[in-house]
Amino acid sequence: MPVPFLDLTAQYRSIRAELDAAMARVVESQRFILGPEVERFEAECAAYLGARHAIGCANGTDAILLALKALRLQLGDEVIVPAFTFFATAGAVWNAGLRPIFADVDPRTFNVTAETVRAVLSDRTRAIVVVHLFGQMADMPPILALARDRGLAVVEDAAQAFGARQEIDGEWRAAGTLGDVGTFSFFPTKNLGGFGDGGLLTTGDDELADRLRKLRVHGGRQMYHHEMVGTNSRLDALQAAVLSAKLPHLDGWAEARRRNAGAYDERLAGVPGVTTPTALPRNHHVYNQYTIRTERRDELKRRLDDCGIGNAIYYPVPLHLQECFAPLGYRAGDLPVSERAAREVLSLPVYPELSGAQLDEVASEIAAFHGAPAFAGGA
Ligand SMILES: *Cc1c(COP(=O)(O)O)cnc(C)c1O
Repeated sequence: MPVPFLDLTAQYRSIRAELDAAMARVVESQRFILGPEVERFEAECAAYLGARHAIGCANGTDAILLALKALRLQLGDEVIVPAFTFFATAGAVWNAGLRPIFADVDPRTFNVTAETVRAVLSDRTRAIVVVHLFGQMADMPPILALARDRGLAVVEDAAQAFGARQEIDGEWRAAGTLGDVGTFSFFPTKNLGGFGDGGLLTTGDDELADRLRKLRVHGGRQMYHHEMVGTNSRLDALQAAVLSAKLPHLDGWAEARRRNAGAYDERLAGVPGVTTPTALPRNHHVYNQYTIRTERRDELKRRLDDCGIGNAIYYPVPLHLQECFAPLGYRAGDLPVSERAAREVLSLPVYPELSGAQLDEVASEIAAFHGAPAFAGGA
């Protein structure tokens, strides 16, 4: 039985009437740019996340870029980013005229920690972009304390973590609401995905919110009057309507992802050579990816490809070793945990509509490959 890595058709079919009605509403109104649909979705996101301000934009990459621009850093200031993340995190820093400084990650969670950030601080460091990779938040309290101590701005790249939460002082706080600015992506493969590109910014600071709202429309509140050089980075009304129709279903989908992750955990526990992902305590992990590690990753990938089992490598090359960042002068060996992760990670299908039989097949194939007997009840 072939198992797709992700099946967006299944989700669409399950709420087709709601989505079609939402799109028809926008088409009827012929209001496609910002306007009431976007404002309503922004208000829904603010309420869902517990953010004071939520501001739509064109995509998650722009969200990071706009956040950095709004912080008014100086050209060439250093911004710490993880070495193990999607390219956009560091690309946005570079495109904002800032210097990305790469931090290593925790081998269990793939996220930066206060220690890995501290290891690369300098007197030119002005900000940190913390990524909540694969749907689990980085351990925020020590990172926020470090940033406070050193006067650093904190941007949370929560592109993969819409709805992830962490218990801090007895309160479950959403990813993207702890730093100065939170950034989100609605790329179709994210947990909350649009029918195209989309993004969101969150902040608790009125002044930052004001600057972000201007920056997404060329830096002015009033047409043809520009206080800052911004860009065109708006969320489409059609995307806002689709996302707003999907939002009430998000928690149910996250529960299904968590259930799938738990089933993999059980089936892959004790398979020699396979490390299942670590969900830290006091974290509500939303599993945008379920990512295992194995030293035989490339061989396993070929085996799964041959069986028609979807899988993906996020990410094969750590950012400090990307060709475009050669001018920064990093070498292989500089950030060993990220480099090892890039050699060992493999993400498995974990989308909400994945059936039990499909999941059993994926797990059995991985167990068999590593010479373990199929788990009880498996294929
Ligand atoms: C998807 C993603 C982005 C970029 O989002 P786009 O909407 O594709 O621009 C940024 N950071 C991380 C960690 C991502 O996963």
